[in-house]
Amino acid sequence: MNPGSGSAQATSLRSHRAGSLRREHAGTAVRLAGWVHRVRDLGGVIFMDLRDREGLVQLSLDPKWTSREVLERAGRVAQESVILVQGTVELRPETARDSALASRDVEVRVTGLEVVGPAQVPAIPVARKEGEELPAEELRLKHRILDLRRSELQQNLILRHRLLQRARRTLTGLGFLEIETPILTKPTPEGARDYLVPSRVHPGEFYALPQSPQIYKQLLMVAGFDRYFQIARCFRDEDLRADRQPEFTQIDLEASFVNEEDVQSCIEAVLVALWDEAGETVTPPFPRLRYREAMERYGIDKPDLRYRFELQDLSGHLRGDAAEFVTGAVAAGGRLRGILATGLGGASRKDLDQLAAVAKGARASGLIWARRTEAGWEGQGVKAFGAEGLATVTAAPGDLLLAAVGPDSVTGPALHAVRMQLVRRPEVTPSTRHAFCWIVDFPLFEQDPGSGAWVFVHHPFTAPHREDLNRLESDPWNCRALHYDAVYNGNELGSGSIRITNPEVQQTVFRLLGVAAEEVRRRFGFLLDGLAAGAPPHGGFALGFDRITMLLAGAQSLRDVIAFPKTTAARALFEGAPTRVKEEDLKALHLKVVE
Ligand code: ASP
Repeated sequence: MNPGSGSAQATSLRSHRAGSLRREHAGTAVRLAGWVHRVRDLGGVIFMDLRDREGLVQLSLDPKWTSREVLERAGRVAQESVILVQGTVELRPETARDSALASRDVEVRVTGLEVVGPAQVPAIPVARKEGEELPAEELRLKHRILDLRRSELQQNLILRHRLLQRARRTLTGLGFLEIETPILTKPTPEGARDYLVPSRVHPGEFYALPQSPQIYKQLLMVAGFDRYFQIARCFRDEDLRADRQPEFTQIDLEASFVNEEDVQSCIEAVLVALWDEAGETVTPPFPRLRYREAMERYGIDKPDLRYRFELQDLSGHLRGDAAEFVTGAVAAGGRLRGILATGLGGASRKDLDQLAAVAKGARASGLIWARRTEAGWEGQGVKAFGAEGLATVTAAPGDLLLAAVGPDSVTGPALHAVRMQLVRRPEVTPSTRHAFCWIVDFPLFEQDPGSGAWVFVHHPFTAPHREDLNRLESDPWNCRALHYDAVYNGNELGSGSIRITNPEVQQTVFRLLGVAAEEVRRRFGFLLDGLAAGAPPHGGFALGFDRITMLLAGAQSLRDVIAFPKTTAARALFEGAPTRVKEEDLKALHLKVVE
């Protein structure tokens, strides 16, 4: 049942929520208020489903207890109108209790009905027939309030509320203080572009919307607050990507006098509580996997550990009879890597083509496959791999070997994609429902695949690994970071790190990233001054709250757990944003649009 449901929610207009009525209310006189979900006019007798956030209840209007006037008014009321009704709760006959309504045991015999919010014909239907498809998403986003009336979305937002409250209670219980940080602020680098807000009173100057509260939360540690959290709205102006929102919510926290494991155990406590709130039991501690190991075994830093089929290095199995494109790629520094899909040798030609398409979609030049039969290996892979080499691979009849050759940056993502396609097959079953893990020991820097420039992996405030600190100057690109990600069933739930507290190390990191000293001073002087004011060792984390809610609600999209989301093109279709503004408004902001 919803939080705060039932008669405790009585107001001057209603005594109960419609969807909260149950057997025990039989005989009670009630006043209800809600939306007309569905009307069945049987000529003389009218049945209506009345809806509110608790669900539906059947209203029964019958000349035996309803006046003619009320019946006539009810006969004219349009679907989705808001009505107030008076009546008495009665048990429904035994035979009529099989409907999908939570309140199916009862109905309300109506004696009074008033239309207080007449509705036009809804642009999209709210009540759907069984099996009726939803209207296109674009249309639903445009008519968001109607779509939000749908029970799935109501349930998702109610769950979201409960998860938020549970996170707050859990963190408060762990001694964290909820402190708000500014929205109009200075850029905080998290790897995306900033949304900028022009200042009217300071011509030519701009605020940035926060990509995260990162710097502020670190400064709160310097200020002595010790444990901070915030349900933080963050803004990142990224290129269009499926299922990303330009503004999103994080459960953001920071703590002083901690190491990575202290932070991780706080996050584990939050995750256990959130999963519990959704009725799922999970047990910490979650296993830890080094970044390199994850990349080696799964080809990705957010592996789905519910499934087997790990990646293997097959290069050592190659003999003289391998195809030239394979030996050539290995000689050029690449590797032949593959997955032994045990028991999947029955895959059809179509399945194999689909797997190859998936690998190519992830930039592999192709997918090598061979199937092990009683007689030996068969398939196009025999030629590519070489029969002699293939004979050294241990497999049982009925197994399927899938492989790709090239640099790890190609084979890793390609085989990850192949693995995720394989596990969708009905014969593959997950070993568990919930596979959490920590990915630790990320590299501090990585090369941007486009420009080749070195960039930070997490953000520039992440501390180098203790064991690598003395290499920061001499061998920075091989330094690991005290950075950790939480991963669940192949989804990244969030990231965090231990922070740099030594202003000199912070300066070095900026220098390595090619940020000039004056630029560092201009952009991050307030952080460096803070670090020089007596900074406690500290670290933190941010959980992607929208994604967690989506996973726990079993929703398909982030848009289904956000009240007013944006499209993947960063447009708000309901309210219509972004928009052009009047010339005079631009002028007041000292701006000019260059077409
Ligand atoms: N600020 C980081 C982020 O938004 C999280 C953290 O390091 O605490 O991803």
